[in-house]
Amino acid sequence: MQLNSYKNILDEIGDVKLVVVSKTRPVSQIQLLYNAGHRDFGENRVQEWEEKVSILPNDIRWHLIGHIQTNKVKHLSPTPYLIHSADRIKLLKVLDKDGELNGLQYNVLLQIKIAEEESKYGFDWDDLLQNCQEGRLKRFGHIRYCGVMGMATLTDDTEKIKSEFKRLKQYFIQLQPFFPDDPFDEISMGMSGDYELAIAEGATLVRIGSKIFD
Ligand SMILES: *Cc1c(COP(=O)(O)O)cnc(C)c1O
Repeated sequence: MQLNSYKNILDEIGDVKLVVVSKTRPVSQIQLLYNAGHRDFGENRVQEWEEKVSILPNDIRWHLIGHIQTNKVKHLSPTPYLIHSADRIKLLKVLDKDGELNGLQYNVLLQIKIAEEESKYGFDWDDLLQNCQEGRLKRFGHIRYCGVMGMATLTDDTEKIKSEFKRLKQYFIQLQPFFPDDPFDEISMGMSGDYELAIAEGATLVRIGSKIFD
């Protein structure tokens, strides 16, 4: 792990927030970045995350960035700072129910498909828009909608990546009026290979793993 590359990225991204993606990385490396002052870390598997949580300092802001099975939700502890991967109504419904039972709110980003074929997870835009128009998302009183998340196609074609990020930004703008009482101000896009492009297209938050750890 290179503290230098972490610091270079921080300098480079300016006001954009950095979630260090620590999935598959040992707690010792997370602890090093914590000691350097970093607090936002992203994990994509609930079980691995919970193992790490019990060992690491409790003021870490944990971001869940991977697909979450609904049967894992009742074990979500501590409450994640932000769930980037709210990718279907069923998950929102289960989170809402759990929030009601436990008297808490879940902060989520709506994950939307922007890559062509290969992305398995995320809302289809047309479905999501329809769900919003029909008021289905607002029914969940224990969900706080904080913005959108998307992943671009894994490709060297920068024009394609740019147009996908542009599309996510447009979706974000179209969704904002549906959430006047929510924060709804984050656009989570950009990883090690494409975060510069994402920032140029309006990312407020980037999720970076390999460029820091490898
Ligand atoms: C793994 C992962 C990242 C980070 O990817 P890197 O290429 O290692 O920076 C970002 N977002 C999600 C959803 C991921 O699963």
